[in-house]
Amino acid sequence: MSDDTARTQDPKEPRARGGGHCVVLGASIAGLFAARVLSDTFDRITVVDRDALTETDENRRGVPQGRHAHAILPAGTRGLQEMFPGLLEEFESGGVPVVREPTEMHFAPGGHLLCQEGRYVDPTPTYQPTRPQLEGQVRTRVRELPGVKIIDRCEAAGLLSTAGGARVTGVRVVEREGGAARELAADLVVDATGRGGRTTRWLADLGYEPPREDRIAVDIKYVSRTLRLAPGALGRRKVVIVGAEPGRPTGATFLQHEQDRWMLTLIGYGGHHPPTDPADFLEFAKPIVPSDVFEALCGAEPLDDPVAHRYPASVRRRYERLERFPGGLLVFGDAICSFNPVYGQGMSVAALQAAALRDCLGQGRDRLPYRFFRAAARRIEVAWQMAVGSDLALPQVEGDRPLPVRLTNAYFERLLTAAERDPALTREFVKVSSLLSSPLILLNPVTVGRVVLGNLRRPARQR
Ligand SMILES: Cc1cc2nc3c(=O)[nH]c(=O)nc-3n(C[C@H](O)[C@H](O)[C@H](O)COP(=O)(O)OP(=O)(O)OC[C@H]3O[C@@H](n4cnc5c(N)ncnc54)[C@H](O)[C@@H]3O)c2cc1C
Repeated sequence: MSDDTARTQDPKEPRARGGGHCVVLGASIAGLFAARVLSDTFDRITVVDRDALTETDENRRGVPQGRHAHAILPAGTRGLQEMFPGLLEEFESGGVPVVREPTEMHFAPGGHLLCQEGRYVDPTPTYQPTRPQLEGQVRTRVRELPGVKIIDRCEAAGLLSTAGGARVTGVRVVEREGGAARELAADLVVDATGRGGRTTRWLADLGYEPPREDRIAVDIKYVSRTLRLAPGALGRRKVVIVGAEPGRPTGATFLQHEQDRWMLTLIGYGGHHPPTDPADFLEFAKPIVPSDVFEALCGAEPLDDPVAHRYPASVRRRYERLERFPGGLLVFGDAICSFNPVYGQGMSVAALQAAALRDCLGQGRDRLPYRFFRAAARRIEVAWQMAVGSDLALPQVEGDRPLPVRLTNAYFERLLTAAERDPALTREFVKVSSLLSSPLILLNPVTVGRVVLGNLRRPARQR
């Protein structure tokens, strides 16, 4: 991935319209991003979701992760900016916290608190709306696009195809109230139904092989609750992220969403799951977060009960490797690749997939699935390797650790150690973990030199 991978074309740029009707299954973040891009070339887009989609920014059944800490990385923020001009400005003027300076962020991946001095050179800041707020605002904008219609409370039940299944021609949907079934004819169907990914089963019905799946069984549990924090209790900090480390397979994310409203998410890998009992929940945070943060948590007012979410495994479906795939069908978002959520990559990778789709559509619709899956795989690869590599640094996660993984993890450990005191290294690492830059920038001679020196300069007892 190069530095400009996240860059998409200007949404105002005139585009050749190919006409036709496209049905997008799933009106969550990936489905909405896909609809936004497709609206540039298709005349009509119908987005179908089985949930009731209200106008308010509420949590809903189909997106249970909305009750937990959600951060959109700078690569995703760039995508939002390009697809929905004005959205970020509206967030900011509406009071959504924005992180611009290292002092506003306590970021401790793998047991290393990154340097809080200096400035981030890259101008893309981090916006912290709640997940329902983000999805609600994006949905409102997609609904306003010409030719777009969103149908809710309607379940996608199967694909329609030409005889022999060479081409998908639409989708069969069932209304959740009353159970009426109907058929929606389409020139293109996009499956954005999330990690459950209906397409694998539907492919078998049409006589195709399903894609191979890569899996990393992380066995993660999230437990979250919303808290009201005394103003200024954490000084300038607007976000606290403490990642797991080999000796402690637990972590925490504490995000400011409004002036005094914060979301605390505690995370634990297999055998170290956080409890949902309120008192035990707070106790679980104690060895993870800095002591002043723990003190602030003890004085905070809970606004809801702790709620849990289990995440068994990261799953990557290798659609780009299939030799046979029907025309008129794409798979998008988590349905292609669902990442361990602790790295906060899912929505940003959906934005990168949207950029890939825009580029592919710019070259016409011929062999679109093959071209799109390959382009999407290139965007997914870096994020997947980083997430899997970090998970495999934890002994609790099962999986092979070939030499390149062990070497990379050993280097990252030293890089993070040096980055504790080095603002330049912190900046480079943040660019990579934000999906803005290729990890290769961390191997340039200047960076490697800083890593070596940073480790040599540590006090002998730490070395
Ligand atoms: C606990 C947790 C925390 C996360 N934290 C982050 C984070 O901090 N940052 C980040 O970027 N990402 C995060 N993610 C990932 C992020 O939520 C997803 O990547 C993002 O929502 C894009 O997913 P999606 O739209 O492909 O699928 P989903 O969000 O799962 O949505 C699927 C949609 O399809 C609908 N649907 C399903 N089946 C059908 C059907 N048969 N017919 C019609 N509709 C259907 C559902 O109702 C839903 O609306 C997290 C995920 C989890 C689980």
